[in-house]
Amino acid sequence: MLSKTAAELSRALADGELSSEELTREYLDRIKSRNETLNAYITVTEDDALDAAREADHLRAKGQAGALTGIPLAHKDIFCTKGVLTTCGSRMLENFIAPYDAAVVERFNAAGAVMLGKTNMDEFAMGSSNETSYYGAVANPWDTDRVPGGSSGGSAAAVAADLCAMATGTDTGGSIRQPAAFCGVTGIKPTYGRVSRWGMIAFASSLDQAGPICKSAEDAALMLNVMAGDDARDSTNQQLDAEDFTASLNDSLEGLRIGVPKEHFAQGLSASVQTNLQEAYRVFEKLGATLVDIELPHNGLSVPSYYVIAPAEASANLSRYDGVRYGYRCDAPKNLEDMYMRSRSEGFGEEVKRRIMVGTYALSAGYYDAYYKKAQRIRRLIKQDFDSAFEKVDVIIGPTSPHTAFRRGEKNNDPVTMYLEDIYTIAVNLAGLPGMSIPAGFSDGLPTGMQIIGRDLAEARILNVAHQYQLHTDWHKQRPEV
Ligand code: GLN
Repeated sequence: MLSKTAAELSRALADGELSSEELTREYLDRIKSRNETLNAYITVTEDDALDAAREADHLRAKGQAGALTGIPLAHKDIFCTKGVLTTCGSRMLENFIAPYDAAVVERFNAAGAVMLGKTNMDEFAMGSSNETSYYGAVANPWDTDRVPGGSSGGSAAAVAADLCAMATGTDTGGSIRQPAAFCGVTGIKPTYGRVSRWGMIAFASSLDQAGPICKSAEDAALMLNVMAGDDARDSTNQQLDAEDFTASLNDSLEGLRIGVPKEHFAQGLSASVQTNLQEAYRVFEKLGATLVDIELPHNGLSVPSYYVIAPAEASANLSRYDGVRYGYRCDAPKNLEDMYMRSRSEGFGEEVKRRIMVGTYALSAGYYDAYYKKAQRIRRLIKQDFDSAFEKVDVIIGPTSPHTAFRRGEKNNDPVTMYLEDIYTIAVNLAGLPGMSIPAGFSDGLPTGMQIIGRDLAEARILNVAHQYQLHTDWHKQRPEV
C-alpha cells in the first residue's frame, strides 16, 4: 500500500479500502523502522498527523474530500510550520518554532493533506548532497553509502523509501530536480512566481521556487493544483487564475517538437545517463514526437553567474540571523558586536559562511559592476538562449544530472566540484522557467534522471509529456529495498 502513488491512495480512500488514519499509522510505523538509517526526517509530528488524519476521514464521511484529502505528506524543513520546529537544516534555527504556516503549508492543510513531519535538507538549501545539514547527512535509499542529492534530499529520500506518499521541496538551482534524479522519483520546479514563497525561508529570492516531489507526473499535477495560486503576501507571485494541471495529462504527443540541447551532451556526461536518455528519446519518437537539435550557447556560464547572484542574495537574506530576534544566540556575549559575531560564527555552518563571504564581496563597492552586474547580464543572455530555442521547439529534454548518486564524502571537500553538480539545472532557475525531473532508467542499480524544460508557465505541457512517458515505461514504479 505504501508504495502507491497519491492518486492511487486517493482512490483507495474514496473506495473505503482503508481510512486515512490507518494509512497514516502505516507510514508512521515505516518511518520508525527506516528513518534511523535514512535520516530523511528531522521532525516527525506523530500526534498532529493522527489528528489531521481523523479530521480528513471526517471530511470524507461528510462528502467533502478533495483529491489529496487524507494523503500523508512531508514538508521540507524550509517551510514554516505553525507550532512545529522549523530548522532549515541549520543550527541557527535549532530552537525555532514557527509562529505561522507558510503559504504552501496552509494550502496543503486546507486541502486536507496530512503532514507527517519535516524533512532533512542542506543547511539553508545550500548544497547538492544533503551533507551540509546540521542534523546529519541523509542516506540514498538505493545505496545507503551514497547521497540522495540536495538540497531537498530528505524529501526525495522519504518519497523513494515510502516514508510518505509525497513531499514538498524547493529549488533555487536544482534542489528539487537533482535529488529527484538521484532517488528515482518525480519532481517539478514551477515557473518563478507560480507558487507563493511566503513563509518559505529565503535563500536567493529571485531564484527560489517551491514544488512537488512525488511518485508520478500525475501526483505532481495534483500537488501543483494545491500549491500554485495567487498570494498578495509574496510580491513576486504572478497572481494567476487557478489552473487544473491534470486537465491535459492525457493529450497526445503527436507532433511534439523536443529540443535536444547540444551543450547538455558535451564532456562530463556519463555514458549510462546518455544511453538511458537515447532510449527515452526513442520512446518519445514512438509516441509521435520529433527531435530537434538546439543550442543553449551560454549554458556554460550558468554556474559561474549563479554563484555570484545566489550568494549575493543569500548574504542579504541571511543578515536577519543576528542572535537578537530569534534563532541561535551564543553563550555569555561580552557586548553587542561579540554577540553578532559569535552567534553567526557558531550558528552557521561552513558552506553558509562561504556563501555569505562570497556574496558580501560581490556586492561591495568597487566590485559590484565587475561581478554582480556582469552576472545579471549573463542571466539575460541565458534567458535569450531559451527564448530562441522555444521558437523552434515545445519542450527541451536532456539529462538532470551528469551522473548517478555519488558516495558520501566524495565531493564535500571541493566546493567547485559540488557546484558543478547543477550544470544542467541552474540555467532553468536563472531564466525562471519550469523544469521537471523524472526517472529514465538505471545504471548499476542506481536511478538516472531526465529533465524536461518548458516555456514560461507551461507546467501543464511538461507534466503531460512526463505523464505520457510514464504511461509507456515503468522506471518511476521501481522502489529500493531499504
Ligand atoms: N546546489 C545548488 C546550491 O548549492 C542549488 C541548491 C538549491 O537549489 N537550493 O546552491
